[in-house]
Amino acid sequence: MMRIIQYFLPILLFLFSLNCNNKKSEEKNEDLVFHLLLDAYMNGSNVPCVSTQTVPLEPIGTWTVGGNPFFYSETLPISLHRSLPMVQLFFEQNNTFGGALFPVFYENRSISSSGFLNRDVFSGLGQGSSTSMFPYGKDTAYATDPAVSILNTDSISSPLGVEFNLEIPVSLSATFISSCKTLDSDEMEFQTNHADSADSGLYHFWQTEKNLDVNLIFVNNGPDLAYPDQTLTALSVALNRWKENYSQGPVRININFSSTTLDSVEYSSIYDLSTSFIFPGTLGGLFTTTSYVGKPNALNVFIVKEELQYGGVLGVSGGIPGPATLLGTRQSGVAVFIETHRLTSNTGQPLTHDELLLLGETMSHEAGHFLGLWHVVEAFGDTGEVGSRDPLRDTPVCGIWNDLNQDGFLSVLECSGFGPYDSGGRNMMFWSGMVGFAQGQITAEQGWILRLNPLVY
Ligand SMILES: [Zn+2]
Repeated sequence: MMRIIQYFLPILLFLFSLNCNNKKSEEKNEDLVFHLLLDAYMNGSNVPCVSTQTVPLEPIGTWTVGGNPFFYSETLPISLHRSLPMVQLFFEQNNTFGGALFPVFYENRSISSSGFLNRDVFSGLGQGSSTSMFPYGKDTAYATDPAVSILNTDSISSPLGVEFNLEIPVSLSATFISSCKTLDSDEMEFQTNHADSADSGLYHFWQTEKNLDVNLIFVNNGPDLAYPDQTLTALSVALNRWKENYSQGPVRININFSSTTLDSVEYSSIYDLSTSFIFPGTLGGLFTTTSYVGKPNALNVFIVKEELQYGGVLGVSGGIPGPATLLGTRQSGVAVFIETHRLTSNTGQPLTHDELLLLGETMSHEAGHFLGLWHVVEAFGDTGEVGSRDPLRDTPVCGIWNDLNQDGFLSVLECSGFGPYDSGGRNMMFWSGMVGFAQGQITAEQGWILRLNPLVY
């Protein structure tokens, strides 16, 4: 979920291989009646329409994942239809360390063998908290294992259910965050196809323009400023690049910016980019302790001077997706790092024009993660596995055979071909970026996901 500058070699996430066939589903209580309490605010179309419900969870049994025992909760129903077209799940343990956890979806609550895993599970388990969402693509069969097809365009919901799985059965809650903005007719009728070129999906045009509010938070430490000039004007080259990217036909989201400052000794430099820990200097700590500067109806972007864990990370999102409207969780926000964007400018100076353009691409990219987009292809290339690429059909990807210098990673230049399997380097959600290389391409299916996010109105 982080964006990395080109010369930086990432530490790859350990991929968990889950085997859900071991599960004793018949032990679960399938009859639980779960009432989704709507606390939606529907004051016209100039604010997001979101309903949230937080429920405590009790483990009711155990099963084995990769040889390790996991507890599981009862199955909770999910509503997904044209007037509740997207749901996010935020699953949290209220303790300092937490254990591994993940959600598992069920296609049909009356069929105990219909369990399937969502895209998020294939990139590793959450620690202390976890997010998931549905749908991850127009064609859900492309995002799940085993493949299932779930529609969000019907007038009533199919009997979707979810249960929650975790290592340490204490202090658990799950929050359901639903968008209650009814699908536009063209969003409802939208069809997608497999990419057949690098240009696939780039020429769509949605009928209506939507809005996203963004709250920029400059994280300063007294006179040590994250950026020397903290006006929107000073960042206009970056902010305009982001607006241009999202204003394209396949997206059509207008961005409204506001800004504020945070004076913090503890978070002007980030030493640990994980959200597992909430100590000073960690990303999880930044997000959990600074909710007073956040806006619940906006995407909160922390502008931080530097990260010192790797030194090459441009930005990082609290999750894929981040929990919309929830402030003060381990995953509540996006951070971008000014120093990583420098090529010729010096610390303390404004960024150059090209460096600001890269900052705009980073903001677009991290916002894409927070709103639910994965990398079109992960750093090691498309292997055909669910976890090696995004769950969308119309995005071009890049196979590992394009790794011409054989360093094990696919660079933007190695993925700048013209076909569906040798490109993606120009896409906003490519895993790495570099100064002077535009990456503003966004496909219609990516735009469809962005437009359905609960924060978009
Ligand atoms: Zn990324």
